[in-house]
Amino acid sequence: MAASSNSFKLDKNLALIGVPWDENSSFMRGPAEAPPLIRAAFASESANMWSENGIDFGATPIFDAGDIEAIPGAAMISRIMDSVSGLLDQNYRPIALGGDHAISYPVVKAFSKKYPRLSILHFDAHPDIYDEFQGNRYSHACPFARIMEEGLVERLVQVGIRTATGHQREQLKRFEVEVIEMKDFRDDLMIEFDTPVYISFDIDGLDPAFAPGVSHREPGGLSTRQSLSVIQRLKGDVVGADIVEFNPRMDSTGMTAMVCAKLLKEIAAKMLSAE
Ligand code: MN
Ligand code: MN
Repeated sequence: MAASSNSFKLDKNLALIGVPWDENSSFMRGPAEAPPLIRAAFASESANMWSENGIDFGATPIFDAGDIEAIPGAAMISRIMDSVSGLLDQNYRPIALGGDHAISYPVVKAFSKKYPRLSILHFDAHPDIYDEFQGNRYSHACPFARIMEEGLVERLVQVGIRTATGHQREQLKRFEVEVIEMKDFRDDLMIEFDTPVYISFDIDGLDPAFAPGVSHREPGGLSTRQSLSVIQRLKGDVVGADIVEFNPRMDSTGMTAMVCAKLLKEIAAKMLSAE
């Protein structure tokens, strides 16, 4: 049975874009290998392609723009920005498959040109707001410092945080970030936005019991269900997203790939739901 036409706007064109780039990872490489594995899990015959709210991604496939070919050094930042801008110019709503969290700065920069008012809902164990990390201002530990100092977004809301250091707490205050630390998380959390929303989902925001395939396993995190509920309950128009930091080298059972695929499916469904 087709999804009822008054619940969804299937004409919002979603587009997947792989960003196989992890040279700014501080501890371990591997996330660059993630995009084909997330696609494979999403298409796996072990599950159907229906979202929980009733969209059949088998009948309405997501356009796949392929992977951005990685080039070494800072030139990759402009290449990511240009590729995402190209999709936005064609009125696609891009979902980027990382790669590590360093991809989010150029992706969000492209979005900010199209959406002058933009907010980010950011799932992560880490605030990723170091001014610099190990001498690298483009480290995967820094993207939200770059995003906030350039004023690319109106609001940054972080969920799942459980590793904030003194320096990062100062940065969070300086940039007026809204942080829902994991210790304060409540199951009935409902977040409301009056701007377009970009979801940046670092897989290590989940508890490693649910998603062990990450470079930085930080116990005490979100369950898969809690994360899905925050996404399903949020009020606002989700115009884009990224799923980052899945490290296949740490995913011996393939479980984390399926978690990424589930998040992809439910984020895409949220993007298509009429708010
Ligand atoms: Mn993280
Ligand atoms: Mn992160």
